[in-house]
Amino acid sequence: MTPETPSPRVKFHYESTIQDAFEEPLHAFQKANPPPGSLISQTENLLICSACGTQYDVDDSAMLSRCRICDDPRQYVPPTGQAFTRAAEMKRCGYRNQWRQFGDDDRFWSIWTEPKFAIGQRAILVKTPLGNILWDCITYLDAETIDRINAIGGLAAIVISHPHYYTTHLDWADTFDCPVYLSWEDKQWLNRLDRLGKARTFIEGSEEEIEVRGERTGVKALKLGGHFPGSLVCLAFGRLLIADTLVTTPSGVGDWSTGSDPTKTGRPDGMNSYAFMWSIPNMIPLPPDAIGRMWDILGKHEFTSTHGAFIGTDVRDGSGGSSIGVKRRVLESMQLQVKMMGWNSHTLLAET
Ligand SMILES: [Zn+2]
Ligand SMILES: [Zn+2]
Repeated sequence: MTPETPSPRVKFHYESTIQDAFEEPLHAFQKANPPPGSLISQTENLLICSACGTQYDVDDSAMLSRCRICDDPRQYVPPTGQAFTRAAEMKRCGYRNQWRQFGDDDRFWSIWTEPKFAIGQRAILVKTPLGNILWDCITYLDAETIDRINAIGGLAAIVISHPHYYTTHLDWADTFDCPVYLSWEDKQWLNRLDRLGKARTFIEGSEEEIEVRGERTGVKALKLGGHFPGSLVCLAFGRLLIADTLVTTPSGVGDWSTGSDPTKTGRPDGMNSYAFMWSIPNMIPLPPDAIGRMWDILGKHEFTSTHGAFIGTDVRDGSGGSSIGVKRRVLESMQLQVKMMGWNSHTLLAET
């Protein structure tokens, strides 16, 4: 592209050399560390999509007019149009990250930004004996968040479910000098070059246990696909962190355990608890075979709770007055969706 022939719409292109670089992580950590904070200050003027929170390798707004994550049917451009911000600008706008422990389990902490920014998802910090693992990522990273995470031992790894939450993960990886695990299938959606060539580790198989210094943490990434070809969930200590890979529905968090007539409490049979979506905001469901492939992987594992991308999307065995477990509720929801799409003899319907 020359200055005389600008592309009319998307001015930022992904050269094949960049794609190649994405594919060759060097897996070298704790080497040649830059001075603390220096990388953050170098990247705080990079453009960030205000609608999805994705950070680009461009700081000149004349060079980037569209966000390719939002120009995909799985996301959207808001009615106010495409807009970008920067980390430096966000720091002047009064954003703050909030923390909340999962009930009485201090191994799990939700971290999210207020006021809501972009998609508004939470990250979940999982404490393991080998170090802290961050499930998913949020755009906003400030000194307060860095101090708080460092006070509990920093991060040993980041695992991101899918491209909608790639956000500023290279800033997080640089700050905490840790690897980021992403699905191999989704690397085309990366928007920053890992210049030091050390942060990203691509998950190629359908399951990967996260290791720290060569030791197993017991935390597993399971590649269910569907929403994106590489969409992951994370299984940690019996809890399944589902992001957008399984979408927690309103009736999934409904509570049938209370009512004026104590003989009529209890969750009815056959209710839906999850949806399986290619596009969540644009409401495009996944086809039955994709749902069946998700169960092929997930059905082999046991879990007693699910925790979605947003605060309040937590479902536990027995919650809401349910007499059946969460895993069964996932299967029932899959079967309901497959049936309602007209597939009355799909093999998934025979699963029990
Ligand atoms: Zn976007
Ligand atoms: Zn998503």
